[in-house]
Amino acid sequence: AEEQLRQSQKMEAVGQLTGGLAHDFNNLLAGISGSIELMQMRMQQGRLADLGRYLTAAQGATRRAAALTHRLLAFSRRQTLDPKLTDVNRLVGGMQDMIQRTVGPAVALEVVGAAGLWPVLVDPSQLENALLNLCINARDAMPDGGRVTVETMNKWFDARAARLLDMPEGDYVSLCVSDSGTGMTPEVVARAFEPFFTTKPIGEGTGLGLSMIYGFAQQSGGQVRIYSEVGEGTTVCIYLPRRRGEADAGAAAGEGALPYAQ
Ligand code: ADP
Repeated sequence: AEEQLRQSQKMEAVGQLTGGLAHDFNNLLAGISGSIELMQMRMQQGRLADLGRYLTAAQGATRRAAALTHRLLAFSRRQTLDPKLTDVNRLVGGMQDMIQRTVGPAVALEVVGAAGLWPVLVDPSQLENALLNLCINARDAMPDGGRVTVETMNKWFDARAARLLDMPEGDYVSLCVSDSGTGMTPEVVARAFEPFFTTKPIGEGTGLGLSMIYGFAQQSGGQVRIYSEVGEGTTVCIYLPRRRGEADAGAAAGEGALPYAQ
């Protein structure tokens, strides 16, 4: 619960972070404006040799500023949910080809869908984004290629397991993405859900993938957890509450509770 409080404080701190980004953005604008002023001065002096250099600097700053606004837009756009009754196996199956194309031929993608998977009530397009993000992270952790496994399961969490996951006791559908990549140190695991935390080179990672997945899982009444070992690989699991009600009375019939694995 303490970690969760810390996390919600972090999410609130996004406001401050966007303030920080506005600051960076202003710095870039100041740089562009300075370059333009210098160009005007040089033109007046008839010293045209330096112009190319200032133009290049201004163009670089413009590109970085555009990348900043892009990130902010992408981040704020994903905040609203449009939940629908969703068959996670179908959703995963429908994305399999696209994911394989995205991770490339060096990565062997394996999909294991549990039979009789319970339905969940989530925003399907956000779950798709989350899954794609997890698979891209998995690929990034395996520069020389490897195996990515996407697996769904029905899970029942008793009081103890639920407490560990900070969720109510009950039935959940898990969607786990495993890789045979570099793994994460405990320090990286501890910070991975922070907005804008990334270990990737500038321009490659936004540090927003896992924080958005965290927000999505929480808003859907679920959780996301990282299980990772340096040198062994990483598994990231999204747990979503089973949807009960008339709509899935048929699908739910005959399902036995499965013991949790962690
Ligand atoms: P980004 O991928 O843009 O860096 P994320 O929020 O998705 O942002 O991930 C944050 C960090 O967590 C990554 O920079 C990386 O250090 C670590 N990480 C995430 N997924 C994995 C993975 N499957 N294997 C190893 N490290 C990972």
